Amino acid sequence: MKKKVTKIGVLTSGGDAPGMNACVRAVVRTGIYYGLEVYGIVRGYTGMVENDIYKMESGSVANIIQRGGTILKTSRCKEFFTPEGRKKAYDNLIKLGINGLVIIGGDGSFRGAQTFSNEYDIPCVGLPGTIDKDIAGTDFTIGFDTAVNTAVEAIDKIRDTADAHDRLFIIEVMGRDAGYIALHSGIATGAQNVLIPERKTDIEEVIKQLEEKERRHKLVNLIVVAEGDEFGGADEIAKIIKARLPIQDVRVCILGHIQRGGSPTCFDRLIASRMGYSAVECLMEGKFNVFVGMVNNRMHFTPLNEAVKKKQRISEEWIKIVKILAS
Ligand code: ADP
Repeated sequence: MKKKVTKIGVLTSGGDAPGMNACVRAVVRTGIYYGLEVYGIVRGYTGMVENDIYKMESGSVANIIQRGGTILKTSRCKEFFTPEGRKKAYDNLIKLGINGLVIIGGDGSFRGAQTFSNEYDIPCVGLPGTIDKDIAGTDFTIGFDTAVNTAVEAIDKIRDTADAHDRLFIIEVMGRDAGYIALHSGIATGAQNVLIPERKTDIEEVIKQLEEKERRHKLVNLIVVAEGDEFGGADEIAKIIKARLPIQDVRVCILGHIQRGGSPTCFDRLIASRMGYSAVECLMEGKFNVFVGMVNNRMHFTPLNEAVKKKQRISEEWIKIVKILAS
């Protein structure tokens, strides 16, 4: 029989994402509702290794559902990659009697949890908190919707100035390995092209399209590029376009870290709350070492050892939609 979980630790790890607070709140309040003791672990695995852990009450998570960032702080923890670091972390948990963990983070944090639960008998449940939406086994990740909406709001503003000056703007959004922010925000803002890591960028095609638009005196030209596009991001694309089409008035805008912050959208608060609640249920029901995702609007559980970066091909239909709607 699986052992009973009575004291749980919750942590946020890796890259921060809006909605992590709503998720922590859901874990804490669900845990307390079911009679568990809940402990906040500060700065991800660092807090586990350094024993920066405190008991949380219902009031500890008051007034945070609407706040970006994470009250628990986050970090990348080198020591946790080592067996010695993980041993320290385990000893600290045992001292407090913590016998279950909820890890809110990306695929890296899940790998850490998997390694840890292989070595020590502490069940872990992961929750996907990352703006990139790049984890296989879930349709959405906590933070993605907010990041996309932030990008859309910014690009709409850029469209105004692009229109006033008849300029071409190359806008770089986040996404080192995944183009979802670029694709979603590009379609939602009527960009004429979206360049993403999942697809080889054909610069000749980009130039041809711009020449065609120039002939037709198309006034607003926006190209959205993911930072991880293999061509080298917005600056590189702009350099080539300027050299090939000197009459184009080209500007670059790199949105950067604004995409990580801000108040989470209703959608992110909702999935964060549902996932946080579900994680505690998993620990109570003995559904250990999984991460909780959402597929077709239902909770979906994937073993942590199968949690991998989503490397799926983006459907050609999405690219076709960009082209048709911008023509
Ligand atoms: P994210 O969770 O956003 O993908 P990282 O990849 O930086 O972020 O991972 C966050 C932390 O998880 C790392 O700093 C490290 O402490 C831990 N971690 C990641 N991979 C492993 C691993 N293979 N073994 C142990 N710990 C890991």
